[in-house]
Amino acid sequence: MTPRKKQTWTTEDSTKLYRVHDWGGGYFDVSDQGEVTVKVRFPSGEQRVSLMDIVAGANQRDLQMPLLLRIENLLDAQIALLNESFRQAIAERGYRGTYQGVYPIKVNQQRQVIEEIAKFGARYNHGLEAGSKAELIVALSSLPGNDSIVICNGYKDEEFIDLGLRARKLGYRCVFVIETPTELPIILERSKALGIRPFIGMRAKLATTAGGHWNKTSGDRGIFGLTTTQLIGIVDALKEHDMLDCLQLLHCHLGSQIPNIRDIRQAAMEACRYYINLVQEGAPMGYIDLGGGLAVDYLGSKSNNIQSRNYTIDEYCADVVEVIMESLDAHQIPHPIIVTESGRSTVAYYSLLLFNIFDVTHFEPAARPESPPEGENPLIHNLYDTLGRLTQSNVQHCYNNTVYYRDEIREMFKRGQVSLRSRSLAENLVLEIFQRIIDLLDQEGEMPPELKGLREQMADIYYGNLSIFQSLPDCWAIGQVFPIMPIHRLAEKPSRDAIIADITCDSDGRIDNFIDAYGTRRTLSLHPLKENEEYYLGAFLVGAYQETLGDLHNLFGDTNVVSVRINEDGSFDITRETEGDSIADILGYVQYNPKDLLERFRDNAERAVRAGSISVPERQDILKTFEDSLRGYSYYET
Ligand code: PLP
Repeated sequence: MTPRKKQTWTTEDSTKLYRVHDWGGGYFDVSDQGEVTVKVRFPSGEQRVSLMDIVAGANQRDLQMPLLLRIENLLDAQIALLNESFRQAIAERGYRGTYQGVYPIKVNQQRQVIEEIAKFGARYNHGLEAGSKAELIVALSSLPGNDSIVICNGYKDEEFIDLGLRARKLGYRCVFVIETPTELPIILERSKALGIRPFIGMRAKLATTAGGHWNKTSGDRGIFGLTTTQLIGIVDALKEHDMLDCLQLLHCHLGSQIPNIRDIRQAAMEACRYYINLVQEGAPMGYIDLGGGLAVDYLGSKSNNIQSRNYTIDEYCADVVEVIMESLDAHQIPHPIIVTESGRSTVAYYSLLLFNIFDVTHFEPAARPESPPEGENPLIHNLYDTLGRLTQSNVQHCYNNTVYYRDEIREMFKRGQVSLRSRSLAENLVLEIFQRIIDLLDQEGEMPPELKGLREQMADIYYGNLSIFQSLPDCWAIGQVFPIMPIHRLAEKPSRDAIIADITCDSDGRIDNFIDAYGTRRTLSLHPLKENEEYYLGAFLVGAYQETLGDLHNLFGDTNVVSVRINEDGSFDITRETEGDSIADILGYVQYNPKDLLERFRDNAERAVRAGSISVPERQDILKTFEDSLRGYSYYET
């Protein structure tokens, strides 16, 4: 493919092309040097740090690509934003309750995430949500205890309940959110046995459903929550055991990544009806928990596309406060503490994956004879003619003919009627015609619908040093789109159209869906590679759900991780570095013992020495290579 014509290109053009200001949440920008910067606000002003400076710092520490970069300030900023937005919405509307945020551990369970949320979130008394026993253990050992709230969702057995009940003695507000009626007898029995009264919540199954990938979370067939009959049954059972006073929280969760604010309002309205009825039943209540769902605008389109959201965090908070207030005021019911379990929005911005490109395949026509060689197949003559006749006014016709001739030649090749050389000439002519069509249409600016796929067909394949299965699993599993762009050379026009292939040997290991205005596009504009210079890309907004959902496909392990804190003077500290899995680590996960492997390989080498195929020094070299590989990083090393 011939590079497009060079025009004056500025960093502003790159900022627009990659839509940095649209998805970046105010945290990312492009510097005059053409590098992506992270922006952090301090009381004394704003500081920007180039991602390339961070990459240089990591390189000096021998931390190779791919590299997961965590920027601690962004996690703090998102926690502050959510809490301050609720505070403001509450103050502006005269709401007579407060806001209590909890972070759902499952969204990113990594120790440093939880520790940072516990530390920074302490000023807002930000709590945690646990959906399993393991997560409860994390919550109880991370939060200080004094009045920290821990929402216990998920299916709870006796051990889970005992731990939650006992933790109440240390001051934790552990709320058992009843997900299924079978949990109630266990809670009643254990609280009697331990002499500790439980703090109970109930999860209602909402009829409201939302747009987006997780819309099966709610609705009649949602697998979570209690039906109206089950709710009434639990209320009656609590009354019977004289424990209705323990019922203090109503929980609901519409699903993650709710793109449309109207769905959030509808869900909050329905939740309020449940809340009002439970108060009328005599439960003290006091907390309304609306779960997660606060979306991230991955596309930056501010729309109700499922990868976006048509509201800001301020608007989300304002609407939630308004709906609860209006609904409850009509019944003179005191305003409850509003709880939300925002995960995605809290952690998405915090992590980004940096990776280098280690190879490229171009789909470019090779040199060919000026005119058809003598005696060549008539179809090849036709392709030469088509190339000669191609103009802006007949692109569609020429395209149709070209595809027809190409397919005929391929058929004839299968039947042995066309030689490899002739087929190769034909394929080259086809590439040349396709490229000419793209160039002609670029001048016109419009692509006829049938030719839309042509750019993708001709796009380069850039081989990225990452495993999508390990680092961006939602990209593969559910078609999640993450903003991806080069982090440097942004003062240069990116002249290539490309898709990205990862390092696994799997045809699903590709990224061919990228953000675009109001939707997605199949190719990404990238720069041509330069000899002896690394080309770095970043996949942004990957802090939520990606890390632990990732898997070991093709035995690519955890990447190197670096945590950075940006300081008020514009410097940055690498606060933590975690080496990615070595090959020996990964083999251990799949039950190989690296020591045994080495021994077996040594036996093989020794046999080769005995058979005279290698010398002893050669044996030593081979064994050293084997041992070095075991200790090495699983990704492409340069
Ligand atoms: N709460 C519950 C019960 C959930 O199931 C989830 C995730 O789906 C969340 C909170 C987090 O949702 P989000 O990441 O959309 O904030």
